[in-house]
Amino acid sequence: MESKIIDESRQGEVLELPQPQASSLVANKKLFLESYGCAMNFSDSEIVASILLNKGFSTTNNFNEADVILVNTCAIRDNAEQRVRKRLTDFKRAKKNNPDLIVGVLGCMAERLKTQLLEEEKLVDIVAGPDSYRDLPNLIETVESGQKAVNVLLSREETYAEITPVRIDSNGVSAFISIMRGCDNMCSFCVVPFTRGRERSRDPHSIVNEAKELFENGYREVTLLGQNVDSYKWQAPPNLPDGEEIRIANTISLPFGEGQGGAVTFAQLLEMVAKVHPDLRIRFSTSHPKDMTDEVLHTIAKYENICNYIHLPVQSGNSELLEKMNRGYSREWYLNRIEAIRKIIPDCGISTDTISGFCSETEEQHQDTLSLMELVRYDFAYMFKYSERPKTLAERKYKDDVPEEIKSRRLAEIIALQQKHSGLRTQKGLGKIHKVLVEGISKKSDKNMFGRNSQNTVVVFPKGNLKKGDFVTVLATNCTSATLMGEVI
Ligand code: SAM
Ligand code: SF4
Repeated sequence: MESKIIDESRQGEVLELPQPQASSLVANKKLFLESYGCAMNFSDSEIVASILLNKGFSTTNNFNEADVILVNTCAIRDNAEQRVRKRLTDFKRAKKNNPDLIVGVLGCMAERLKTQLLEEEKLVDIVAGPDSYRDLPNLIETVESGQKAVNVLLSREETYAEITPVRIDSNGVSAFISIMRGCDNMCSFCVVPFTRGRERSRDPHSIVNEAKELFENGYREVTLLGQNVDSYKWQAPPNLPDGEEIRIANTISLPFGEGQGGAVTFAQLLEMVAKVHPDLRIRFSTSHPKDMTDEVLHTIAKYENICNYIHLPVQSGNSELLEKMNRGYSREWYLNRIEAIRKIIPDCGISTDTISGFCSETEEQHQDTLSLMELVRYDFAYMFKYSERPKTLAERKYKDDVPEEIKSRRLAEIIALQQKHSGLRTQKGLGKIHKVLVEGISKKSDKNMFGRNSQNTVVVFPKGNLKKGDFVTVLATNCTSATLMGEVI
């Protein structure tokens, strides 16, 4: 139930929507769309669905009755790719029964492997990278005319700004909004800059409009998504007359300082979305330690509806290794950012990502990660073993020389410590009053409902007359390692 950026329970999730009106079935084709990877990919699948539904497609959750199967893929670690490859062989078998079936690979793996999946492995008909989704209807038509279709062009501009995503994970309460695409940081272990291209920020007006629309449709929480939200920066088009720039500033009612020329930063964007409605909660991910400013922290502190929760991936607690990872900060810098969070937002939940067994990691360097975790005491963490990725800086420059069993042992130590810290964090919530957004019926008992507090901890409480989307105050009286339980007051 954790609000996850890489949500294990959603891997392979199939998009299914109510049948459209018969009259709108222009293409009258059935789409099976399965997604893997991070929240950004699930958000992209909502854009893909929107584009194809506009062309008259309907969805199915049974790939045997589909006309088109699309798999939105992840390339971040080798095991993510292996999972998709295995799935593609299932679809290849389905093609034997239905030779007209079209199978396409979307997303990061498509971008990384380009034509390889078509030519060498003959697994699919369409290969479409993350910036080519508008082209999908054409790509499908190309395959229908008997050819294979590829579009892996990366764009410097595409943000799909005006496409209204079709909400897939529709609990009707919380939704993702992509605020930027790509990444300009070259972390040496990471394939993202190669698969998602250059960083670009989406027009803030379209972001605010999407948030407004969601609120009007009953949603009460949005998560702003980007690989490095702190470097969000939108510049008003350069050819606007001066007066026009001011008008843009007035529309979003922000105090634009002299010389800012209509630029919107992440702190300002947060403020704009927070102002949509006090009952619309704002979350965001991912923050980058090298770019996270005090201004952002003060904005979070200023608005009650911006959740007190920051995902701040550390990767390693050792400065030498951080430099090798090209992360752009040291252990001391990172701890200084944690100190700033604790000072400006005293009750902030903090989570992280770690990588065990990166190239040449020594036992002492691993101990530095554990000692940093002791200092921070994260609420939650995504913990990984290093997986070498082709073409990355690390693959070209360093040896993947930490033996597998040592990587596993170090990862296990990190997981054990994190479990202890997560438990302590949950216990700290006991005896306190929490404002909770109701998300649905508890999985364990239909007499209870669940939701999350501002710090993203799951809270369970009696159902009463409550419904999804309500805000309630709960006094926490009991807990498990990750969940608070209590009474509505
Ligand atoms: N942009 C975010 C950031 O800078 O933290 C996260 C991007 S990535 C999709 C999510 C996480 O995957 C990273 O924070 C890192 O911990 C992990 N990751 C990325 N590349 C990896 C690799 N080659 N091996 C293991 N973990 C990796
Ligand atoms: Fe990858 Fe680093 Fe960009 Fe995150 S900031 S997506 S880890 S390159």
